[in-house]
Amino acid sequence: MPHLLPSNRRLVVQGNFFAVVFFSLWLLCAAVTNGQVSTNGEYDYFLGEVLVKFKSDASEAKISQLNGTIGGEIIDRFSGDPNLYHIKVPETLGVGTAVSFYTNEDSVALAEPNIAYSTQVVPNDPSFSRQYALQKIQAPGAWDTVVGDYGAVLADTDTGMDYNHADLAPNLWTNTGEICGNGIDDDGNGLVDDCFGWDFFNNNNNPMDTVGHGSHTAGIMGAAGNNGIGIAGVVWNAQVMPLKIGSGTSISNAAAIKAIDYAWSMGAWAINASWGGRGFSQLLKDAIDRAGSAGVLFIAAAGNNGTNNDTTPFYPANYNSPNVISVASTTSTDARASSSNYGARTVHLGAPGAAVFSTYRSGGYATMSGTSMAAPHVTGAVGLIWSYNPFLPSDTIKSIILNSVDSIPSLQGRTVSGGRLNLKKAIQNTPAP
Ligand code: CA
Repeated sequence: MPHLLPSNRRLVVQGNFFAVVFFSLWLLCAAVTNGQVSTNGEYDYFLGEVLVKFKSDASEAKISQLNGTIGGEIIDRFSGDPNLYHIKVPETLGVGTAVSFYTNEDSVALAEPNIAYSTQVVPNDPSFSRQYALQKIQAPGAWDTVVGDYGAVLADTDTGMDYNHADLAPNLWTNTGEICGNGIDDDGNGLVDDCFGWDFFNNNNNPMDTVGHGSHTAGIMGAAGNNGIGIAGVVWNAQVMPLKIGSGTSISNAAAIKAIDYAWSMGAWAINASWGGRGFSQLLKDAIDRAGSAGVLFIAAAGNNGTNNDTTPFYPANYNSPNVISVASTTSTDARASSSNYGARTVHLGAPGAAVFSTYRSGGYATMSGTSMAAPHVTGAVGLIWSYNPFLPSDTIKSIILNSVDSIPSLQGRTVSGGRLNLKKAIQNTPAP
């Protein structure tokens, strides 16, 4: 397979499928951004947007004064960090200049561009046999013991999800604290009518997927099983929480941070991140660490550059946080996918990612490839293990997964565990509750 990502500079996916507790108040006066992406040679970022974390003793007046100096307007704030602001700055100023301006101010703790990550899918060969992946990881052997539990809440930070899809609708997460459509923030979490996820990219309550990527990853982890149609997810019964954080193949770091804080605060057990890029964000790592403190695992695609993450880091997979699991992509013959990143110290294990058949937008199905497809196999495994024994701490779940892999030559010396996910062994190695 050719290396279809043209360079590390421009992490935009190519291929047939991809020609592819403040919000409500702030929405009323939110500045508008154009959502356009540029690059600085190292990573992509959204034009005219910065993330600024002020020091906790910075007054509102000081913040207003600084924003006024540079022409900054507050777009939004963050439920997980009251000192963090999403700010629109004049595009003519340049994001680098704006970041420097804020960084040099005494009342600012940290300033970053709003990094644009990208979904980690590569084009594929649709003639591969369908759902080889579940056989490969010996899912049927695990399903003899457990098929899931609706208490398993798996957040999918992605392009949204086709929640009307016949194979996804049965496992759509619902917010039991919210009365849908009454225009009231019933549960007081800052979001009005967040009944079944949220669109953090456009700031509304409709996380519908019009791209396909998010529907695909959602189905891999949690398509309804044994329902007589379509496919089975790794976990048959679960609640998949769709959190939309991007448009097309571009993922907004600001939206990702908001989505991660939403996921753990609303009860998710695991968060899937089938996206990434070269840009380091302390603010994103901080959000992942907040999820970790809540006992939530964060499963990330290792990336599709075909490179070594030990020497060329890929984020968020490379954050050295104990709750992160970085996943490489393997094929039907247990080769490492040629496009998959690897790393003896930084990539934990492999999972099937090449030519994976799953649900798609508009009620469809599609075969797609990439570490985007590998990660949700592991996220589904987390859901299945926790369905079997919900009392295990997250670090134990991670250890069970890494200690249950099938060792395969293509991943030895290339991943921490040296192997590919085995669901049957993982359940066998899970103590009964
Ligand atoms: Ca709400």
